[in-house]
Amino acid sequence: MKRRLTLYFPREAVHEPITYRLAVDFDIAAKILRAQIAPNQSGTMVVELSGDIDELAAAEAWLESQGLGLNRVPGQISIDRDRCVDCGICTSVCPSGALQCGAPAWQLTFHAQRCLVCEQCIPSCPFAAISLVLDPS
Ligand code: SF4
Ligand code: SF4
Repeated sequence: MKRRLTLYFPREAVHEPITYRLAVDFDIAAKILRAQIAPNQSGTMVVELSGDIDELAAAEAWLESQGLGLNRVPGQISIDRDRCVDCGICTSVCPSGALQCGAPAWQLTFHAQRCLVCEQCIPSCPFAAISLVLDPS
């Protein structure tokens, strides 16, 4: 599973080897998408974490215990209703139930508040109706 996070580093945490600890302690790969951290100053980093869902939750708790602020959703999933044919394929890969399609309407419903922004649904759609819209930086 993938999850994008914005991490806010307090000044005392900027020297922590965060990505190393995530790999060694939680088996999580951290891909840095954006970073703005100057020595001895607070900073911001946008990362994409890949790993087991339970380990991701444990890693987030550990990051917060280190004094980092977390924003879990720097982007959001968008469904293009003009492309979607309500086939329901994407619902089978959604781990959180954010995508649902069933009786009586058999129309795709997206529950944004449940979405983990794991992006597993994006490649599953044969009509390219799902995309990730990043927040402006
Ligand atoms: S809607 Fe897509 S991005 Fe959101 S949790 Fe489901 S599979 Fe993941
Ligand atoms: S897989 Fe694509 S076309 Fe099918 S219900 Fe999901 S968004 Fe719509």
